[in-house]
Amino acid sequence: MLLKTLREEVLEANLELVRRGLVVYTFGNASGIDRNEGLVAIKPSGVPYEELKPEHMVVCDLEGKIVDCKLRPSSDLPTHLELYRRFPNIGGVAHTHSEYATSWAQAETPIPCFGTTHADYFHGPVPLTDRLTSAEIAGDYELETGKAICRTFAKVDPDSVPAVLVAGHAPFCWGPDPAAASHNAVILEYVARMATHMLLINAGSQPLARELHDKHFLRKHGRNAYYGQVKTQ
Ligand SMILES: [Zn+2]
Repeated sequence: MLLKTLREEVLEANLELVRRGLVVYTFGNASGIDRNEGLVAIKPSGVPYEELKPEHMVVCDLEGKIVDCKLRPSSDLPTHLELYRRFPNIGGVAHTHSEYATSWAQAETPIPCFGTTHADYFHGPVPLTDRLTSAEIAGDYELETGKAICRTFAKVDPDSVPAVLVAGHAPFCWGPDPAAASHNAVILEYVARMATHMLLINAGSQPLARELHDKHFLRKHGRNAYYGQVKTQ
């Protein structure tokens, strides 16, 4: 089987979204890329999660040409491909309609960094895309969604803020591999839920101080990170 390990990783990333309650029915999709081969594996469209097997993952090139699998890929494939083309360090993408993160996307409101949980994962607010234009919606909608995401990151580092809210739609998350993309989707939902509750408790709550935000992100990420165990490899 072509790209057996990647297919298994992508299947596992999809199943993680289900286990964590981020998807209902066949909503949601996760993918992964083999940068050496230039090939992407993604969940097929509309197949119940409980029936999914590694061989059902659809493998295509970065232009969307299917190279292995008889099933149709997730309809969001062109969005995933645009992210892989434009964000060269990412290895996995996860898309869900998880309840709280999607609520913020529908409210067309970026998620400010209200606490250190957010700061541990996202070095800045989780941004919101512009609305797609009528022409973009009528045209190559899924590709235009990817382009809208990339425009949102013109001045934001996607490696430091691995998530976005697509206006009126839902979040997309990414990471160095498929497992990290799903992990970030789970954390985003957790952060979005806490932000919602926090504003119910105190509608005047303010974002975290920049110093504390930087402290928490930079102790986990980047050259001077010191959180967790020293990597031996
Ligand atoms: Zn969607």
